[in-house]
Amino acid sequence: MNQRTIKTAIAVTGTGLHSGQPVDLEFHPQPINTGIIFERSDIVGSEPIPASAFLVQDTMMSSNLVFGGTRVGTVEHLLSAVAGLGIDNLLIRVSASEIPIMDGSAAPFVGLLLQAGFCEQEALKRFIKIVRPVRVKVDDKWAELRPYNGFELNFEIDFDHPAINKDFQHAQLQFSTQNFIEQLSSARTFGFLRDIEALRQNNLALGGSMDNAIVIDDASILNEEGLRFHDEFVRHKILDALGDLYLIGYPILGRFNAYKSGHALNNMLVREILSDPNNFEIVTFDDNVSCPIEYLPLNRITVEG
Ligand SMILES: [Zn+2]
Repeated sequence: MNQRTIKTAIAVTGTGLHSGQPVDLEFHPQPINTGIIFERSDIVGSEPIPASAFLVQDTMMSSNLVFGGTRVGTVEHLLSAVAGLGIDNLLIRVSASEIPIMDGSAAPFVGLLLQAGFCEQEALKRFIKIVRPVRVKVDDKWAELRPYNGFELNFEIDFDHPAINKDFQHAQLQFSTQNFIEQLSSARTFGFLRDIEALRQNNLALGGSMDNAIVIDDASILNEEGLRFHDEFVRHKILDALGDLYLIGYPILGRFNAYKSGHALNNMLVREILSDPNNFEIVTFDDNVSCPIEYLPLNRITVEG
């Protein structure tokens, strides 16, 4: 199983969730062992910002990277797409301090990256294999990674709200690129109307609308088109976690279990794992068959729509 980058550079323009302003986003192929790096195209001579859990500085609403005073915010949905597609090396250039929100899910990024196409590189893909359980906990919330031959994500939320059905607050993803695209990538972020109104008063979430989030008032879902999945809320939490966990620097071999976790706790888990080399091993696979994770073969990746 070799490393992957994209075949050609590709660009898109979206809206910043907080600024409400247009944001340009570009993806560029990168050489082997580069990893995922961000760059601010609006700052002349800005240093590349590696997608590293240790650069996450604030996790209030999203996962935000800060390096040498330069910030790139709301990276999690894009990183979820990058992780889901199994991309190892990529430069992401962005013209503002936040990644555009698109439709509030990872699907537009997936579509764009599929359009760019992929190429296999002359170096083995490195995985981080969890070799002993690591768990972090704050109040009643927790997140853990345990040894597992593959990558599985289990998530449970606990919202006591008439619009969030009690039967659909737990979800599981057996990770493969196919499962990611079909079951997870289009799950949108969500917000409560009263929180959005409060954010706006502080000049935040100015770009937030029902075009890029599921919006809920005290009684119901306000989006006319309803939900994309019965359990879209918890699926989105898994989507977020996949992006947050990719800041560990490698695709993961392990089982992720979480209860009411969020960006802060996901980040705490990654840092806890990396803090002790006895928690993990870096492994490679000489061929695709022996790799316990299934990525779409390059020749089967097609663009839909
Ligand atoms: Zn999210």
